Amino acid sequence: METFVNKPKVLSNNKVFSFPLNMMTFHQLWGVVTPKEALRKLKEVRIKCENPRNFEEWALDKIGQELYDLFIYGYTKKQWLKEPSLLPSSIIQRLPIRLTYEENYFTTKYQSMPKEGYSKLVENMLDGIDVKLEEDFFKLDWEKIANHLVYSGEVDSFFKHKYGSLEYNTLKFEHKKFKGDYQGNAVFNHVDINVPYLRSIEHKHFKNSYLKHYTLNENEDETIVSFDIPISYEENPEPFYPIRDEKNSNLYSQYFNLKKMLPNVTFGGRLGEYKYLDIDQTIASAMTKAKNLLRAK
Ligand code: UDP
Repeated sequence: METFVNKPKVLSNNKVFSFPLNMMTFHQLWGVVTPKEALRKLKEVRIKCENPRNFEEWALDKIGQELYDLFIYGYTKKQWLKEPSLLPSSIIQRLPIRLTYEENYFTTKYQSMPKEGYSKLVENMLDGIDVKLEEDFFKLDWEKIANHLVYSGEVDSFFKHKYGSLEYNTLKFEHKKFKGDYQGNAVFNHVDINVPYLRSIEHKHFKNSYLKHYTLNENEDETIVSFDIPISYEENPEPFYPIRDEKNSNLYSQYFNLKKMLPNVTFGGRLGEYKYLDIDQTIASAMTKAKNLLRAK
């Protein structure tokens, strides 16, 4: 594994800020230095809401209008193609807000990337396994070839949209090559609404060893940068994120009841569980399910 700690930066109107919101961000914006000063300011700017009913009310209650407009509104509207007031607060509750100078996005004990990347990791896991690609699963009679099915596609498609369609959100990626160091960091969030992409990811910064290249000479090596571009699900029906608002959660609970009636099918992943899972949660869930399957054998 390659040690990697994610410390994204936000680019807002040509200014760079530390992110997720932490003491450095509050310092950059308000000039406050101590957690006490930052807390005082946050208490002053928050727009109190006893029972936040949606994303926007929750965010304004915690951080107030200025931070919300600067870091959250544009990015969220771009990503979800919806007004944040129409989104569930669970989406924004994923984001840490810190009164320390800690810039690490995550607090998990182990943080690293597969040494040769995820493609190689998956390739190795599938070594010796018969993989069929470009097959339409729904045209297969899987029960003729397997006793048990692990299904990680959209749960509503599995049941032929019996109760209606769940909503998903999607992105497309554009990969570009540049010379040298494009942005000096693995991840930049682009929060301005007029910038068409959400994030730019410069892959070489995932390698911790890259830090050793620190030099005052310009590095002219090739670099690859991927841009996440929001696109509507109708244009690109490849689902990435479940939209777990009240309407979709209610619909999903109907599919959940159907799932329970199929002991020979294991549903997994963001789409099979209709949950906004992070990769560590997805892997943990897959491992638990695999153990349970082996135990039941
Ligand atoms: N978000 C934001 N500004 C940012 C980063 C995130 O407003 O610069 C909001 C956005 O609504 C996003 C949510 O916070 O959907 C959760 O962000 P996270 O980085 O966890 O999303 P993911 O890693 O799944 O893309």
